[in-house]
Amino acid sequence: MIAIAFLATGCSKEPVEVYDPAHDYFSFANTEQFITRHLELDLTVDFDKEQLRGSAILHMERLDPLATEIILDSRGLDISGVSISLADSPMVPAEFQVGEEDPVLGSPVTIELPADLEIASSFMVRLEYATGPDASALQWLPPELTAGGKQPFMFTQSQAIHARSWVPLQDTPAVRITYKAVIHTPSNLLAVMSANNNPLTPRSGEYEFEMPQPIPSYLLALAVGNIFFAPLGEQTGVYTEPEVLDASAFEFANTQDMLDTAAEMFGPYQWGRYDLLVLPPSFPYGGMENPRLSFITPSLLAGDHSLVSVIAHELAHSWSGNLVTNRTWRDGWLNEGMTNYLESRLMEVLYGKERVDEENVLGYKELLLNFDRIIPERQALAPPFPSGDPDDFQGTIHYHKGQLLLQYLENGFGREIFDEFLASYFDDFAFQTITTERFLDYLDENLLKVHEGKISREQVEQWLYKPGLPDDAPKPHSESLDRAAALAIAWTQGEVQLDEIPVAEWSPQAAVHFINSLPASLSEEQLNELDSAYGFSDTRNAEIGRTWFIQVAERQHRPAYEKLEQHLNRYGRTRLVAPVYRALAENGSDLELAREMFTNARASYHPITIAKINTFLLPGTE
Ligand SMILES: [Zn+2]
Repeated sequence: MIAIAFLATGCSKEPVEVYDPAHDYFSFANTEQFITRHLELDLTVDFDKEQLRGSAILHMERLDPLATEIILDSRGLDISGVSISLADSPMVPAEFQVGEEDPVLGSPVTIELPADLEIASSFMVRLEYATGPDASALQWLPPELTAGGKQPFMFTQSQAIHARSWVPLQDTPAVRITYKAVIHTPSNLLAVMSANNNPLTPRSGEYEFEMPQPIPSYLLALAVGNIFFAPLGEQTGVYTEPEVLDASAFEFANTQDMLDTAAEMFGPYQWGRYDLLVLPPSFPYGGMENPRLSFITPSLLAGDHSLVSVIAHELAHSWSGNLVTNRTWRDGWLNEGMTNYLESRLMEVLYGKERVDEENVLGYKELLLNFDRIIPERQALAPPFPSGDPDDFQGTIHYHKGQLLLQYLENGFGREIFDEFLASYFDDFAFQTITTERFLDYLDENLLKVHEGKISREQVEQWLYKPGLPDDAPKPHSESLDRAAALAIAWTQGEVQLDEIPVAEWSPQAAVHFINSLPASLSEEQLNELDSAYGFSDTRNAEIGRTWFIQVAERQHRPAYEKLEQHLNRYGRTRLVAPVYRALAENGSDLELAREMFTNARASYHPITIAKINTFLLPGTE
């Protein structure tokens, strides 16, 4: 039994009595009665008003012949008119009503079908609208927050349930749509979307897009700015501001190789081109797997290809997530755990086992740290999840525990057999959505029962529905990281000098592990010694910087606070800044200082990042 989740939200949902895994508790849409197949957007990008406005036409089908009310998702949209038509007939105005706003879900839009259309099984709904000032998917950057400093920039982040803040639609991964769009921009800027971007498009201020493969709404994406293109391979390239175009093309030079390798391993790449869009620093994530055009943080530009596992991750989503999609956000491990697993397989082919072992150990350590902070009910991979914010649910559990489950299955059945299983999984569920329970049944029929006696359904259920890790879970191990940890201890015990430890020659992953292996008792003098020997405070590598400044904050190492603040201003990616604020807020002395630093930096952060940091600095406000 699950507590009543929606009673006070003013929406039309019935209170939840029995948890239904196939139902999306994060959408108002009545998808069992009506379903959208195709979307047409015509939007003007107004930088002065920080607003998108225009129209959305939803091509819908009625599944329930008795249903006369369509319910869509929206958040903060100003909807000025709704009309409906059959395929070839003129639009007629329709009655509509925007319901009370729920802080997480937004507002339901209820549209009455006109009486004479009530027999139609397919029809179009046109909504005229403009986005609101706090549209959660949109970030509007003034020129000074871009690399070039002269033109504004805007981008969307629709996952998990933010698409509804820039398009009124059925905002649930359970519904897949194709789309077309016309985007009007200032004529000197370029628009790109998660669609058929043409690298040769001339700058005109009017751009047309088409996405012929059906995608869930969270993969709708748009960016507009002073964007240019550089090719990386036959099918691949990178879009970004000219100031970082060369650095981006250098850093991600092997993207075509990655794509070819992935297609060989996981089955054909089904999306045409694969391009990257490197965004300004405030992009809140490492990457976002918008199909055909992954959105990427510039914090990966380390100058040495050392952080490209994020590209392998976003590319792998072209199979796990974009091709086979989690039914609801509660099943997010099917997107993220599976993708982390594919990422590690891809990285092993391209960069070798040692690097993958290192990355897997670091992921495992983060998972163990998170178990300490997450209540047991949320430590299962797929617990009932009828309320709350899906953005809070995309944490380490889905990524790293999910990956470990797939590693466990690979270990149990052998790589060859498991790879065959994965290939048929991607094939059988291509362009579909899937619940955890459907996955479990499919796994049971196609792997567990076929090779009986290796891993049981009950063992898999323990991963899915129980906290922590089973006793026989794989434990990632890396010899190079073990050596780094041993040297960290040996130095603190005076057995070895810093100039005998070649940290600069190590992988950044080993440097991260070295920093994390330092004992709690280091003196200020020792920390200064470390910093001047290895230049951690001045590193160009964002992951080393993140690790070092978390330690600096936890240890209250004030000599490095000025550089720490520079780190907080340089990056906007949530992963790189939020844990540093958290460490300051929780070190017993620096909560006020953390708030001051945040006040100075927050104008350059994305709303998703701000919300996360607020949970540490202003507990109870999120
Ligand atoms: Zn991902």
